[in-house]
Amino acid sequence: MGTVTTTNGGVSFWYASLGAPEPRRPLDGSTEVDVCVVGGGYTGLWTAYYLKKADPSLRVAVLEQRFCGYGASGRNGGWLYGGFAGRAAFARSHGKDAAIRMQQAMNASVDEVIRAADAEGIEADIVKGGVLEVARSRPQLARLQAFVAEEHAFGQQDQLLLSATEAAERLAVAGTLGASWSPHGARIQPARLVRGLAATVLGLGVEVYEGTTVTEIRPAGAERQAQAVTARGTVSARFVLRATEGFTAALRGQRRTWLPMNSSMIVTDPLPASFWEQVGWQRRETLGDLAHAYMYAQRTADDRIALGGRGVPYRFGSRIDHDGATAQRTVDELRAILTAFFPAAADTRVAHAWSGVLGVPRDWCCTVELDPRTGLGWAGGYVGSGVTTANLAARTLRDLVLRETSAAGESELTTLPWVGHTVRRWEPEPLRWLGVHSMYTAFHAADRQERDGRPTTSPIARVADRIAGRH
Ligand SMILES: Cc1cc2nc3c(=O)[nH]c(=O)nc-3n(C[C@H](O)[C@H](O)[C@H](O)COP(=O)(O)OP(=O)(O)OC[C@H]3O[C@@H](n4cnc5c(N)ncnc54)[C@H](O)[C@@H]3O)c2cc1C
Repeated sequence: MGTVTTTNGGVSFWYASLGAPEPRRPLDGSTEVDVCVVGGGYTGLWTAYYLKKADPSLRVAVLEQRFCGYGASGRNGGWLYGGFAGRAAFARSHGKDAAIRMQQAMNASVDEVIRAADAEGIEADIVKGGVLEVARSRPQLARLQAFVAEEHAFGQQDQLLLSATEAAERLAVAGTLGASWSPHGARIQPARLVRGLAATVLGLGVEVYEGTTVTEIRPAGAERQAQAVTARGTVSARFVLRATEGFTAALRGQRRTWLPMNSSMIVTDPLPASFWEQVGWQRRETLGDLAHAYMYAQRTADDRIALGGRGVPYRFGSRIDHDGATAQRTVDELRAILTAFFPAAADTRVAHAWSGVLGVPRDWCCTVELDPRTGLGWAGGYVGSGVTTANLAARTLRDLVLRETSAAGESELTTLPWVGHTVRRWEPEPLRWLGVHSMYTAFHAADRQERDGRPTTSPIARVADRIAGRH
């Protein structure tokens, strides 16, 4: 028992439990469409979905290097929630009201994903039980209180601060000193959502080409449209939209745009009724904590715990894991968190471990943009919060495209503060590797100090945040 892992990698448990997808046809020669989307994750597929819904006459193609949902969209923790990367920075650059508007749009996006999944008959094990975040040390409790105060300052009056007893009534996490709860969150089975989306867009007439790697995206010039170049042919389009998130560095000219940050997960075997009677978790809240190297978890539809956190955060030269293969050390670390949170699960087997990449911009702020001059658009840099943000990005890209192709002007969404947000690129190696590794070494050291009884937030963590450009 103990740390024995039955499956490692294989994309994700979410995919493994559904069975390998039937491969779809690759691109077969050069072609022309109205909109070409590069990447078949939530961003790319939602974008194709909303474009086709808005204008069924548009020819839309999605190019995917492996299969739809191969990336983070088929591997994530299944937190469909209202958080997004960069709210404080957007408040500084565009004013607090603009950041609050974006927050409201994010909250509405949680409901929009649930609505659209329901409307399209996508069964993704969605339960909207909100987001529960626990503090398990005094410094974490202080950060929790500050976090709730900040949420209130951004108009989130429904973010509640819970006592240890109130938290335990929902979910008994060992050592909890306090918690917060927000209604703007749902648990999902990530691969079911992305698979359902792929089938839905195919049904709408979107051309989906799998096993088709784009090597370069070219802007429109005097003589030609924008292009997505592959070894199987070139797709020319009025708009080429990049939706490659953590994989972006592999595209020509994009090596230092978004850093591919790793996140890793484990899932247990199904836990017995006696465990759930002890622990609660009846409302299926998504669960997180206030550690610097934070964890995230969910109770799955078949009564497992899926739990994730930062393992090996980043590989030299922006390299990416092979199909989610995960170091044993990371599996052991995640298991230690599981046992600390839920001592009653100490003897439960870890059934599967996997990893994935997310895209991190230099200032940790998400972005969406369409440049009508070059015909190029993109969305991403969601850091760890892309499940909901990808939906907002897709509807924003739709509005930006329609602004160019029809008489539609600005929309509610195209005036949100992340639209057109730009930031400088990451440093070249070895600085990139050194920076990220020092940051996470510092976060882990700070967490250790706080676990060992430090009464206040470790200054190491504050310095690491500043060096990383997070605040
Ligand atoms: C382990 C893990 C846990 C996470 N947990 C959460 C969570 O609980 N909640 C949350 O909000 N966010 C979470 N995230 C982040 C979230 O999953 C992502 O932000 C989101 O899925 C991004 O969607 P996307 O479509 O932009 O990117 P992806 O899903 O990564 O899709 C990009 C797609 O593009 C394809 N592609 C890449 N390059 C090319 C190319 N050159 N040519 C053709 N195709 C290409 C890839 O194969 C991939 O399918 C997590 C991420 C990870 C890795």
